[in-house]
Amino acid sequence: MPDLYNLTRRRWGRVSVARRGRPGSNPGAGSNFLERIDGFMNFYQYQLAAERTAKQIPKEQRYVNFAMGLAGETGEVVDYLKKVCFHGHPLDKNKLAEELGDLLWYIATIANTADLYLDRIADRNIEKLKKRYPEGFSEERSRERAY
Ligand SMILES: [Mg+2]
Repeated sequence: MPDLYNLTRRRWGRVSVARRGRPGSNPGAGSNFLERIDGFMNFYQYQLAAERTAKQIPKEQRYVNFAMGLAGETGEVVDYLKKVCFHGHPLDKNKLAEELGDLLWYIATIANTADLYLDRIADRNIEKLKKRYPEGFSEERSRERAY
C-alpha cells in the first residue's frame, strides 16, 4: 500500500498518484480516480484535498490534534441539532452540511495519518452492517446484540 500520508504531503506525489490510478486499478483501462463522477468528489479526492489544509506536524501530534478537532466538531453538530430539536430553531441544511463537512475533514486527516482509505473504511463499515442487520435495521436485532 502506498504511504498516503507522505504522498499527500508532496505536491508531485499527488500528481503521480493521479496518473497511476489507485492501487490495484488499471490506469490503461481509463480508471482515473481524480476524475469526478457526475460532478461529485470521491473519497480519495477528498482525502487528498483535505490534506492540503492539514497542519504538517509529526504523526503522533496529528492524531492528538485531529482527534481533539473531531470531538470539537462532533460537539458542534450535537449542539446545533439540540437547538433544532429542542429550542425551536429551523433546520438550516447548509449549516448542518457545513458542520458535517468539518467532521469529515477530521476523519479524512486521521485516515491520512494512518494511511487508511475512506472508501475502504466505508466498504468495511457497510459489510459489517449487512451482517449485523441483514434485513435492514430492526430494534429486535439491536436488542439481541446487546446481550
Ligand atoms: Mg464546525
